[in-house]
Formats: sequence, C-alpha cells, structure tokens
Amino acid sequence: MTYKFSPSSLSLLKDCPRCFWLALNKNIKRPDSIFPSLPSGMDKILKEHFDRFMKRGELPPELQQLKGEVKLFDNEELLKVWRSNFKGIPWTDKKGNLFHGAIDNLLQKGKKLIVLDYKTRGYPLKEDTHEHYQDQMDIYNFLLRKNGYETEDYTYLLFYHPSKVHENGDVDFHKDLIKIKVNIKNAENIFKKVVQVLEAEIPAPSEECGFCEWVQNSCEIIKK
Ligand code: SF4
Repeated sequence: MTYKFSPSSLSLLKDCPRCFWLALNKNIKRPDSIFPSLPSGMDKILKEHFDRFMKRGELPPELQQLKGEVKLFDNEELLKVWRSNFKGIPWTDKKGNLFHGAIDNLLQKGKKLIVLDYKTRGYPLKEDTHEHYQDQMDIYNFLLRKNGYETEDYTYLLFYHPSKVHENGDVDFHKDLIKIKVNIKNAENIFKKVVQVLEAEIPAPSEECGFCEWVQNSCEIIKK
C-alpha cells in the first residue's frame, strides 16, 4: 500500500498517531469541524497583492527591509502549480509514497529560492509562535530540494493580526516578518516516521484525547 501526504495531513500525526493511522489506512476520518475562513480569505488577497508587485518587478511594503537582497519569484506558471492544493510541489519516495505541499509564495536570491508563507492570527505573536510552523517550512524546503531547486537555509513567515478599527470601520492589520532556520533533516525524519507509523499496527489512543475511551465505554453501555 502506498500513501499520499501533505503538511496538513502530517499535522494529524502530531495530534494523534491513531487518528492519522485510521484516516490513511482505513479512510476513517475525523468529522469535519467548523474552520474559520479568515486565514484562507487573507491568503487569497495576499497572493493577489504580492503578485501585483511581482509583475512590476518590485517588492511590497511588507518586504522593504529585504530590498536589494531578494526579488519575488516570477515564474507564474510554476507558481500556479506549486500553490495548488491538488498538485503543489511533489516528491515520491522509493516505495511510491507521494509527498506534496502547496506553498504561498517564494523569494529568489540569486539562484536560490526562499519560501515565504502568510499566517493570519487573532493576536500578537508570542515568543514561540513561529516554532509551530517549523515542520511545515522544513517540508516545503525538502520538497523543493528533491525537485532539484536550491533553497536558502532559512525561510520567512509573514504574520498578520488585527490591530485597530478606524472611525470609518476600516481595520488595520499589524505585520511581523519572521526569519526561521530550515532543518532538512527534520523533514526527512518526519517522512520516515509517517511511513513507519502507517506500516505498523494501529497505535494506542492519544493520552490527551479521551474520545476513543468515551466511544468504547458508550458502546459497552449501549450493548447492555
Ligand atoms: S484518541 Fe482521540 S484523536 Fe486519537 S484516535 Fe481516538 S478519537 Fe482520534
């Protein structure tokens, strides 16, 4: 059996290996929950905003501190494919497992690429906020390198959070550009681990989640 993964499906492994195993091996997925649409709406308009600057060969104000150092990646055809959730940047391992990830944007510094990801949140950054995205960014860089592209050993997260409502109702968003170091070895280890988990017996329920135990107890009571 071969599998297909994206960084978002891999985040389920962190939540609970059993849920991940059930979803990938038995197609038993968690019920859909209500997902806030603000981040995807922001992603869409930010891509359009950045693309307008890319077409003019300029950097948007959010990246002025990088002026003279980088430019926005301007291969529009490739960007369209790499941004697609269905295609993204693909790589297939020796066993035939397909890994793919859809990026938001790329910067270019000479021959090297730098991944740029937009993040919308409700509140100012905490000291460790960026750490939650380390795996995702490592995976994007790993996939680019596997496809023959050189990437810098760092990447950028561009955070937006609402900061002010004006008298006329317009809302301001504060921006934070955070540079993080890329760890390719971490991505390699994640891919190895996911295949190991899926090829083994079903993992035990997560200790932080009581739902499996709740289901079992409920079924026993109903059977009585
Ligand atoms: S413990 Fe919770 S998260 Fe894990 S499989 Fe059971 S219901 Fe899913």
